[in-house]
Amino acid sequence: MERRTFLTGAVAAAAGSLTAGAGSVGAQTAATPAAPKVAFQVDLKKTPESAQIKTHNRWHPDIPMIETFKPGAEFRVECFDWTGGQIAPDNSANDVRDVDLTKVHYLSGPFGVEGAEPGDLMVVDILDIGYLHDSPWGFTGIFAKENGGGFLVDHYPQAHKAIWDFHGIYTSSRHIPGVRWAGIVHPGLIGCLPDRPLLERANKREAELLATNPNRVPPLLVPPYAPTALMGQMTGRTAQTAAEEAWRTVPPREHGGNCDIKNLSRGSRVYFPVYVKGGGLSMGDIHWSQGDGEITFCGAIEMAGWIDLHVDLIKGGIAKYGVINPIFQPSPIEPHFSQYLVFEGISVDETSGKQLYLDAHVAYRRACLNAIEYLKKFGYSGEQAYMILGTAPCEGRISGIVDIPNACCTLAIPTEIFDFDIRPNASGPTRMVPASSVANVT
Ligand code: ZN
Repeated sequence: MERRTFLTGAVAAAAGSLTAGAGSVGAQTAATPAAPKVAFQVDLKKTPESAQIKTHNRWHPDIPMIETFKPGAEFRVECFDWTGGQIAPDNSANDVRDVDLTKVHYLSGPFGVEGAEPGDLMVVDILDIGYLHDSPWGFTGIFAKENGGGFLVDHYPQAHKAIWDFHGIYTSSRHIPGVRWAGIVHPGLIGCLPDRPLLERANKREAELLATNPNRVPPLLVPPYAPTALMGQMTGRTAQTAAEEAWRTVPPREHGGNCDIKNLSRGSRVYFPVYVKGGGLSMGDIHWSQGDGEITFCGAIEMAGWIDLHVDLIKGGIAKYGVINPIFQPSPIEPHFSQYLVFEGISVDETSGKQLYLDAHVAYRRACLNAIEYLKKFGYSGEQAYMILGTAPCEGRISGIVDIPNACCTLAIPTEIFDFDIRPNASGPTRMVPASSVANVT
């Protein structure tokens, strides 16, 4: 009955049927509780393409459900890392430079919920989440300008990589000395299948944007691309036709998707708009930790992992609550940091010195660049500092968006992640990290 105590309103009403469906109350309480069923399994020794249950790396309304659960069901989903194993835990960034981005993200699902119909909200609890036992490591990449790029691409156009080792809840990196922290594990990407009108609407608006500068490097966006599409359990001609129009997984959209929200961790509850019958919940791109903005693009600590889920429905929830994009409640469990050093940035272009009008994108970039210059005084390379900001639980904020002409954004670094004091003092940055570097292209 414990679950019912945190369900309220319409969800609590649904809980009557969901708990009966899950067989966990009433006459069956004497049954021994079982571990959540593994609804999607991954074998890291094989490529995702050779697995029997296929992942999907595109969004499309017709991708068939892997399995449909009753409201109230709990199940476990295992996920490949977002690149499907293209990155190795070694000292060369060649794999980051050469990664095939037309193949990402490898997603597990879609899963249906019985009775889910367009207009409902699917209520998804992330009960728990972690790394796969035979894979206690993660990676961060600075993507090359020619292959992906990143938030600071003009300052850091080359490929670099850092490997992170997990020790229980903590991580440290052979490539970035002097830092260690407890992670906030979360799926970078989770959402429900779009319906056809949404699919077409987004394809149209994205094509219009792409047409404004089709040859830009890095590109403005990635359009549908069939040759490397994995369409889950779809096969043959149907799969081929759908792949021609299926969404790439890089941008977040109205259905959720690649939102990269670091606080969507264990204990979070997400309310997803349902567009197709059954809902079709899919996920992947698990992050061990990430700073707000995931700024290096492959900016989190990326890993293969598992997620335990509980699903439920709010019938007609989209209209009841006026929902367009997903809504979520963050995790009740997060690492506790009491001290931050906060860097400010304003909307003045760093190269041209040009004044921009309330541009939060530029203001946040300046805050990040200011933080990197500061960390370099302690012996970090620019790449190491850039990766710390992308992976550590740094908080990005818009502090002012009305004080014409400057937007002001801030980036807060928890000072306790460093094993030395990074605060300014009269004698200057005396403690230096040992000389080292991230993995470079070899
Ligand atoms: Zn990711």
